[in-house]
Amino acid sequence: MIDVLAGRLRAILGDQRVIADRQRLRTYECDGLAHYKVIPALVVLPHTAEECAAVVRACVAAGVPYVARGSGTGLSGGALPHADGVLIVTSQMRDILEVSAADERAVVQPGVINLQVSKAAHPYGYYYAPDPSSQQICSIGGNLAENSGGAHCLKYGFTTNHVVGAQVVTPDGDLVRLGGRAPDTPGYDLLGVFVGSEGTLGIATEVTLRLTRLPESVRTLLAAFESTDRAGAATSAIIAAGVVPAAVEMMDALAIEAAEAAVACGYPAGAGAVLIVELDGPAADVDAQFADVERLCRENAAFEIRIAADDAERALFWKGRKSAFAAVGRISPDYIVQDGVIPRTALPPVLREINAIAAANGVRVANVFHAGDGNLHPLVLFDEAVEGEADRAEVVSAAILDLCVAYGGSITGEHGVGVDKAKYMPRMFTDDDLDTMQLVRCAFDPAGLANPGKIYPTPRLCGEVPGRHKGAHPPQEAADPGWQGAEVF
Ligand SMILES: Cc1cc2nc3c(=O)[nH]c(=O)nc-3n(C[C@H](O)[C@H](O)[C@H](O)COP(=O)(O)OP(=O)(O)OC[C@H]3O[C@@H](n4cnc5c(N)ncnc54)[C@H](O)[C@@H]3O)c2cc1C
Repeated sequence: MIDVLAGRLRAILGDQRVIADRQRLRTYECDGLAHYKVIPALVVLPHTAEECAAVVRACVAAGVPYVARGSGTGLSGGALPHADGVLIVTSQMRDILEVSAADERAVVQPGVINLQVSKAAHPYGYYYAPDPSSQQICSIGGNLAENSGGAHCLKYGFTTNHVVGAQVVTPDGDLVRLGGRAPDTPGYDLLGVFVGSEGTLGIATEVTLRLTRLPESVRTLLAAFESTDRAGAATSAIIAAGVVPAAVEMMDALAIEAAEAAVACGYPAGAGAVLIVELDGPAADVDAQFADVERLCRENAAFEIRIAADDAERALFWKGRKSAFAAVGRISPDYIVQDGVIPRTALPPVLREINAIAAANGVRVANVFHAGDGNLHPLVLFDEAVEGEADRAEVVSAAILDLCVAYGGSITGEHGVGVDKAKYMPRMFTDDDLDTMQLVRCAFDPAGLANPGKIYPTPRLCGEVPGRHKGAHPPQEAADPGWQGAEVF
């Protein structure tokens, strides 16, 4: 069956852009969450929307599942291939089709790298605001599918606020347009449904993005506190004072230690936590609000405040923060990058409880995160070589998500559910909630071939009646090969 499909795909794309060699396929066996690995049956590298649509139609005709992949930097296993399926890689769809300053829009292919959009818009006085820390390598298609965030999303909003239109290959293989250049379209917000759908509702083949005017002024400070409690209180005080910084990022002592070891960022010695606060906008507003931020940090016991004198110093402040995930490799052989959300005002107690959970389980947790919007990234450190440590790290990781839910937050802020967090969905949603979500999925993809095995802990066949089910789940009972992705749960 796969050989026949491979032949059809070669007829569409040519021999060079269909990969069937097992060694070459291994390049694509995982995304940024490397402990899940599945070698796909085939990888294809389309260049155009029409080619993507033809590939999807061929998969549907053969009853073969398919998974979209951008740059493969996802941290929830969203682009994990299906063993019997086709991985549709958009990394060669990298054309910026249009930059229109007058419309404040850019139109791009899905494989375009996030930072390239800002570089293309810069000469016109614009940039693309959502800035995941991976922005030098992650694709716009992946950003759209994950509704990615970043340090500056506190003020400017997440990807969903910056995608105004998309051309999409539906799971039937049709090419359709959702949204457009205009600010709004009548009818259901299908574009809103599609953004954040993690490749389960189709494949984006062209994306229209909102561009943001470059600010007149940007000012950044680094404030050092004795504890995360103090830094958390300062964060809440800044927002409560009516100041909306472009970014408020926090790192705790362990994250600072890792960043110093990796990039020698020179943060204040002895800090239990640092905040990076950045303001942007009209110079007069920024200057006035900057004074407020400085005062509020001091009132919340900041023991040192550094103000970036120029772009070089500003870049140094950010260097420690942006390198923090990878830097943790300097202080621990293995680590889990967790992603959860809490209301910002709950930062002090939640960070205290995370430390208590870590201590009780004998593992260390470094915290580096978007404090302004309460999006935590606890890095749970462990050594695979020490017996039981990986299991304890998993326990801590899960307990942190329970804590987020208990405080009214969420099991993911920006990295998505993918394969990794599907098992946590019932901690946040009832069976009815999950059934309703799957009705949406089935409306787009009745055959269940678009990225199966992701998001939902108990996948449902589309003909199945919603509601509670007793005994083995029908798709599992039927051992339907279309649902083999479920084996990873
Ligand atoms: C060091 C590091 C830092 C990171 N920092 C951040 C951060 O600050 N904020 C943040 O939000 N994330 C962050 N991430 C996670 C990751 O970079 C984002 O989720 C990013 O959006 C993934 O883009 P990608 O191109 O790599 O997508 P992939 O990993 O290739 O795919 C991600 C998901 O999108 C789907 N997909 C890909 N392309 C398409 C398409 N064209 N149409 C439909 N579905 C598609 C895939 O099926 C998959 O489900 C970080 C990752 C790393 C490694």
